[in-house]
Amino acid sequence: MTVGTVAFDDITTPFGRAEKVVGGACTYISWAGSYFTNDINLVSIVGDDFPKEELDALKSRGVNLEGLEIVDGGKSFFWAGKYHDNMNKRDTLVTDLNVLADFDPILPESYKNSQYVMLGNLTPEIQIKVMDQMKSKPNLVVLDTMNFWMDVAMDSLKEAIKRVDVITINDEEARQLSGEYSLVNAAKKIHAMGPKYLVVKKGEHGALLFGDGQVFAAPALPLAEVVDPTGAGDTFAGGFISYIAKTGDTSFENMKNGVVYGSVMASFCVEEFSINKLKNLKQEDIASRVELFKKMTSFNI
Ligand code: AMP
Repeated sequence: MTVGTVAFDDITTPFGRAEKVVGGACTYISWAGSYFTNDINLVSIVGDDFPKEELDALKSRGVNLEGLEIVDGGKSFFWAGKYHDNMNKRDTLVTDLNVLADFDPILPESYKNSQYVMLGNLTPEIQIKVMDQMKSKPNLVVLDTMNFWMDVAMDSLKEAIKRVDVITINDEEARQLSGEYSLVNAAKKIHAMGPKYLVVKKGEHGALLFGDGQVFAAPALPLAEVVDPTGAGDTFAGGFISYIAKTGDTSFENMKNGVVYGSVMASFCVEEFSINKLKNLKQEDIASRVELFKKMTSFNI
């Protein structure tokens, strides 16, 4: 199951601009996850301005939209962002919550025993409301968030974080959340807040997984063309949790594989604007990038 935004984005990068394209954390998570499972329960909200073809495309990938509220006459969440020449940095130009402002998610009965729960980036109160409605304890709950919520809702974010198994944030956010500059010390503090595992996303520098007293580092695939980094973090999260759901193994060893699959999916995401690349992947494309990862990181001393 996944909760998060389904949105319109307006994205400017050094390579061009994409106006009013499909975005949202939940959209990226679902598209990435659909390559690992055809059993994703989506929880989100849109206005009736959101294109029906896009919803049909998700359905055709096995994404269950029973938990998607469509508000008559409402406007979908809208986000505009502009990347710097160094695409690790971006400015948020507009965040219009629109229908998200009054979102009070009601989980369909069939969602309430979901075993793998991805709390995508959105209001921590909503992430909590979703957890409160679960009937049985999931095998794994992963929470993604961002500095925006640390600035405006730190207390409820801490409440949400207390209840999850894994949190995925970027390096700056890990520092902001913990008040520690060293990521090793940040990880210790964040473990003490609740989550047994922490994934620190470092953009083009890959990702670190902390947990069970161990650290695993995965690089990002060096790519010739990065057109639009939007959604890379969500795509990572979608690949990560869906691989773990598919294998049913939440050990640290298997989470390492999850991090690699997450990184592989993110490497596709950034090659085109919006979800365009994620819509047209083949299993062979994913498998051959996993092989590239293996080659890139193996050595014999
Ligand atoms: P990422 O690049 O992984 O941080 O995700 C970008 C996506 O997150 C975009 O498609 C936006 O629609 C969505 N987004 C941006 N800001 C927010 C926010 N404050 N809350 C929830 N989703 C957001």
